[in-house]
Amino acid sequence: MHGLMQDHPLLISTLIRHAAENHGRREVVSRLGDGSIHRTDYATIEQRARRLARALESRGIRSGDRVATLAWNTYRHVECFYGVSGHGAVLHTVNPRLFHEQIAYIIRHAEDRVLVFDADLLPIVETIAPEIGCVERFVVLCDRSGMPQSERLKLEAYEDWIDGADDDYTWPNLDERAASSLCYTSGTTGNPKGVLYSHRSTLIHALSASQADGFSLSGLDAVMPIAPLFHANGWSLPYACPMVGAKMVLPGHHMDAGSLFELLSTEGVSFAVGVPTIWTMLLTYMSEQGATLPNLGRCLVAGTALPPAVQKSLKDVHGAIAIHAWGMTETSPIGTVGTPTAEVDTLPEVERAVQLLKQGRVPYGVEIQVRDSQGGIAPRDGETFGPLWVRGSWVASGYFKGEGGAVLDADGWFPTGDVATWDRYGYMKITDRTKDVIKSGGEWISSIDVENAAMSHPKVALAAAVSAFHPKWDERPVLVIVPKAGQQLTREELLEFLTPLMAKWWLPDDVVFVSEMPMTATGKILKAKLREQYWHRLA
Ligand code: AMP
Repeated sequence: MHGLMQDHPLLISTLIRHAAENHGRREVVSRLGDGSIHRTDYATIEQRARRLARALESRGIRSGDRVATLAWNTYRHVECFYGVSGHGAVLHTVNPRLFHEQIAYIIRHAEDRVLVFDADLLPIVETIAPEIGCVERFVVLCDRSGMPQSERLKLEAYEDWIDGADDDYTWPNLDERAASSLCYTSGTTGNPKGVLYSHRSTLIHALSASQADGFSLSGLDAVMPIAPLFHANGWSLPYACPMVGAKMVLPGHHMDAGSLFELLSTEGVSFAVGVPTIWTMLLTYMSEQGATLPNLGRCLVAGTALPPAVQKSLKDVHGAIAIHAWGMTETSPIGTVGTPTAEVDTLPEVERAVQLLKQGRVPYGVEIQVRDSQGGIAPRDGETFGPLWVRGSWVASGYFKGEGGAVLDADGWFPTGDVATWDRYGYMKITDRTKDVIKSGGEWISSIDVENAAMSHPKVALAAAVSAFHPKWDERPVLVIVPKAGQQLTREELLEFLTPLMAKWWLPDDVVFVSEMPMTATGKILKAKLREQYWHRLA
């Protein structure tokens, strides 16, 4: 017997329709390319997204067709999230920081028919244009007066599309399992692979993300996604904010600490989201300026491990809680969130803080397993490391066009490529990427733990621990350090500082000081490059 409840499909268009009807005047603030501030609201965004959908329809873009964006965090990009997916097409958000060959590859692989991009990214588009024959239309996110000149491409202005479209488009009733958006993994090895989300997975992920033990979002929040909208669905914020009627504050491509601080402060941001390097940069800037952010209540830190120093200074100086989360493009992205359970909340302050430095626990809808070396389940002792597996309603079941073959095991678990521990409170802690683990004399050393310890030194800006070949132990850790500007630090000083913080055999065999780290397009340290560089350092 079926229940007698209404059955409405979970569609992305319903989010913006809800926001327009119930939070129509709630602001969406953007910093544009020229640095000026633009203000709009959800009612206007919904109307313009419908016009975009009409414009796509009238140009023959149908359900399932891919439309790519190469764009920063602004209201126009948010409109694309709704206009494209709401119409039934698939929004393919492309990371402009990838190598040009990778950008061309993923656009070709996705067979994008339209490429919508920010004007300052024209040089990339012109460079790759000969390799992306699938793209029929090049649309610049600006009005006619802001159009850049191109001798090679026929460009169209986004605002002409919007102005020229009727207002009478109604959102179609789609299958909630239909594909809605596409993100490629950064692919540090091999070609990037496409993760294809559905309306349904996106909606239930956003419902979970906004819960109190997730981002704890409400209509009272002003939210700043510093993490790019093109990375893993913008960590759900383009969906979760309209869902609850939170104000959005979008920094565009102005990612320097001064510009970010100004927006955080003048727009009264209460919740901001970014990778640890962004927080480190902002905290350094604010301490130099003697500035604080009294409205900032919560900061979501994810992408790489939350350094204890960031957790501490957010709390001590700004009174803000750092919420540590773990996820991947393949998990929409939320896998775990480090909010306290009742048990953890009553731990003594120091233990509580240490517990909340872990990557956290699963929300309803995700399951995780840490496995041992025999493939069984690792004990929940917070010590035994093993590969982390995940499954759930917003976890990928495979990659676009079957790339990489069958990825799930027989029970539907997805191998994350991360190594983790889990503990009796249910908290998971990432100790490494599988390929970054340092295997010394058959035992594993967590590069992340070594890095976090090093990052707690006041003169250290960035730290990376990588394995180097060792004739006796196979591998030993080498620590690569970027000191803070104007600071002098010696190998001996740092090793002495680390000695009480870790087991003796975890202590790095050498320390290398560099002025810059090689970074990936998503702001992570490119460990593979460092490993290659320092592999023979101890031989
Ligand atoms: P991406 O698909 O680009 O989002 O990368 C996902 C990977 O980033 C994960 O598999 C982890 O290796 C890493 N990652 C994400 N969040 C964290 C975190 N909080 N701590 C450590 N590593 C993380």
